[in-house]
Amino acid sequence: MSDKIIKKEELTNILKALKETYEVIAPVKENGFYSFKPFKDGGNIDLNFTNTRLSPKSLLFPQSERIFEFNLDEKSKDGYIVKEHPKDYPPSVIVGIRPCDAKAFKLVNINFDNPEFKDPWWVKRMEAMTFIGLGCNEPSSTCFCTSVGCGPFNEESLDVMLFDLEEYFLVRALTEKGEKLLKQGRVDKDVDEGLQKKADELRIKAEKKISSSVPTDKLKEKKINDLFNAPFWDDVAFACINCGTCTFLCPTCWCFDIQDEVTKTVGDRIRNWDSCMFPLFTLHASGHNPRPEKVQRVRQRFMHKLNYYVDKYNTGVACVGCGRCVKYCPVNVDIREVFSLMNGL
Ligand code: SF4
Ligand code: SF4
Repeated sequence: MSDKIIKKEELTNILKALKETYEVIAPVKENGFYSFKPFKDGGNIDLNFTNTRLSPKSLLFPQSERIFEFNLDEKSKDGYIVKEHPKDYPPSVIVGIRPCDAKAFKLVNINFDNPEFKDPWWVKRMEAMTFIGLGCNEPSSTCFCTSVGCGPFNEESLDVMLFDLEEYFLVRALTEKGEKLLKQGRVDKDVDEGLQKKADELRIKAEKKISSSVPTDKLKEKKINDLFNAPFWDDVAFACINCGTCTFLCPTCWCFDIQDEVTKTVGDRIRNWDSCMFPLFTLHASGHNPRPEKVQRVRQRFMHKLNYYVDKYNTGVACVGCGRCVKYCPVNVDIREVFSLMNGL
């Protein structure tokens, strides 16, 4: 399918047409920050953003989710039976997702959908989702996506890519899902050669604007014990206050905890995001905690992303270079420096 072109002011009407079939989710600005929210007909969408503060991972992996329900009333016919909490998985579209965040879904998918394990809620939402990406014309100073196998116009995890060409969007379908979506939105005007060239130039310029980089070339050959026992972990962990901000904002962090909440005889089994930076994360029922010290927890976060994940899945590091953890860590712990330390050991 050839690239298409739409005028920017046509986008709202196209999304309104898609709303007949899909739940449409788009970036919205509220209280000074952007986040992904349901698209309203009035056009609350705002694509003038660098990236959202929270990644869109909660759209597929909610921060708190009721997964099972049960009844502790012995006399009830359902007494002591755990049932899956009923849910809908409507066809949905995320509009304006950045290429790094789309790639993060691909990396997390390896954990939630593989031959040994399938997370049913993640898998169903992933199947129902179509990703319309928006290339980054103006990457942020903390972005380092090009060093970790991604880029401001990386297409590998998207169904459709939008190129922002001032008055127009060049619209590129990348998968069958994407083609179907464009047909439904009646996006059918072919792009002319001049705008096609402009889009190519835009991509090259944006890649050159990425000013941050991290070394990764030696990570794969590093021995786990050498990295684990490296002398730099105390320094890396020194300022960390174990607030968990980095893991909650990160699009590739997927750790969770499951808790039962019971009111009288009715109970819910709830899955909540958790963080390897929290002291109770690894606490065993016996009272033993294998990672009681801050330095052990900080090491775990970086070892998982830059070593364990790399060894286990052979698909590169579990970081897409979005820079959120760099930007929002309250004490300036910087993963770019940890990349250098681990790669250079
Ligand atoms: S955001 Fe910074 S201070 Fe908070 S847990 Fe992460 S590294 Fe530590
Ligand atoms: S830059 Fe930080 S927040 Fe972004 S993917 Fe990498 S580890 Fe996660």
